[in-house]
Amino acid sequence: MKNNHHTLAQQVVDRQTTIFWFRRDLRLEDNAGLFHALRNNEHVLPVFIFDTVILDELEDKFDKRVDFIHQSLLHLQQQLEALGSSLLVVYDNPVHFYKSIHPKAVYTNHDYEPYAISRDAAVQKILEAKQVTFKTFKDQVIFEKQEVVKDNGEPYTIFTPYSKKWKATLNAFYMKSYPSEKYFDSFKKISPIAIPSLQDIGFEETHAIFPERVVKISVIEKYDKQRDFPAMAGTTRLSIHLRFGTVSIRKLVQIAKRRNEVWLNELIWRDFYAMILYHFPTVVTKAFKPAYDNIAWKNDPNDFQRWCDGQTGYPIVDAGMRELNETGFMHNRVRMIVASFLTKHLLIDWRWGEAYFAKKLLDYDLASNNGGWQWAAGSGCDAAPYFRVFNPELQTEKFDADWKYIRKWVPEAGTPEYIAPMVNHKMARDRVLHAYKTALE
Ligand code: FAD
Repeated sequence: MKNNHHTLAQQVVDRQTTIFWFRRDLRLEDNAGLFHALRNNEHVLPVFIFDTVILDELEDKFDKRVDFIHQSLLHLQQQLEALGSSLLVVYDNPVHFYKSIHPKAVYTNHDYEPYAISRDAAVQKILEAKQVTFKTFKDQVIFEKQEVVKDNGEPYTIFTPYSKKWKATLNAFYMKSYPSEKYFDSFKKISPIAIPSLQDIGFEETHAIFPERVVKISVIEKYDKQRDFPAMAGTTRLSIHLRFGTVSIRKLVQIAKRRNEVWLNELIWRDFYAMILYHFPTVVTKAFKPAYDNIAWKNDPNDFQRWCDGQTGYPIVDAGMRELNETGFMHNRVRMIVASFLTKHLLIDWRWGEAYFAKKLLDYDLASNNGGWQWAAGSGCDAAPYFRVFNPELQTEKFDADWKYIRKWVPEAGTPEYIAPMVNHKMARDRVLHAYKTALE
């Protein structure tokens, strides 16, 4: 597969061709980097690289995210073919790919994950050595890097002051769409290029049902009242689309500004965690607050397995884990409950839970997932105080009082068939408070 596509790439990419490299921005509309590529060049050829460095890490060959990307590429290919152009999809290490071709220029959008930053630096070096222009743009977030920092230039580590400055800095310019469609004539005219199948890249179709790419205005309008109840369709489920860029964050912020400030705040959390990861890449492996790396985790593999399988005997926890295992989605309120349960009730390192979510979540995003887990464990920037241990029963009373969500995922809950709680709440609470206190003293 790799060789075929190398040859193909060498045939279609000549010194007149400008590459637009798609990554987590899989759309033609309102795409900053694509807009600039099209406006300033002719013969723009869109390229997507199934990055072997990333794919080789995925153990499950029925990975729903890979399937989602593949379907999104087929959709882009259709759109591009209707414009007389096409999409070049290769399966390769991007560094090797860029070594093998010699275009006029390469345009792409920023990615703030540590691996992506080092990969892009390596690509830049290769292209510079060949005197090929490499241009990158902000697209995935509203504010990046140093754009929203404290007055003294340091990054914020607490959400509320960050969000205030974020809102104060926001103006029409930052929400403005990039009208790529004005320059669609600049796409390279080319006969259709076949996209590798999932099997060609070592994966399989999953038949997963993905949340629709529909911005549900009525949900957004009622978001502040409904968002905490997992049995309701009270959140937008746009997370997979935000993750892979099949919707534009600018478009969503325009809507949020007009319709619902509480929802706007959630979009700001997304920017916040991306900013934290960019400024503090050590969070990937370490607690944001170093003392939290002294916690003596119990890390019992059997306990962990029961949590993964949704067999803890706590109905709200089991419902969340079963929803995740079956659909790849879990409601935010329930993510907080299961994450608190794993770290606090079972005294298992947040990194284990983070890794499990990374395998299963359709919307898995390093920055937000790490932020969410460190928040739940108490080790994160702006995390809940460690002595706040969610009580699953009280959470259920507040957010799923009639057990509508629980019954959907754990039909045997409340019957003799249901397992007993694997751990006593009071004992677990005392145990974790002791463990945290000892570590933080
Ligand atoms: P809505 O409630 O409609 O919100 C709209 C968008 O805002 C979301 O799609 C998402 O992009 C963003 N957003 C909402 N809440 C948050 C938040 N707390 N932090 C950052 N962004 C947010 N979100 C991910 O996108 N990827 C993850 O891997 C991820 N892992 C998480 C792990 C834990 C332990 C926790 C507690 C939360 C995690 N979240 C993650 C945040 C949040 O749970 C999801 O973004 C949300 O549930 C997605 O549902 P939605 O699209 O209906 O969101």
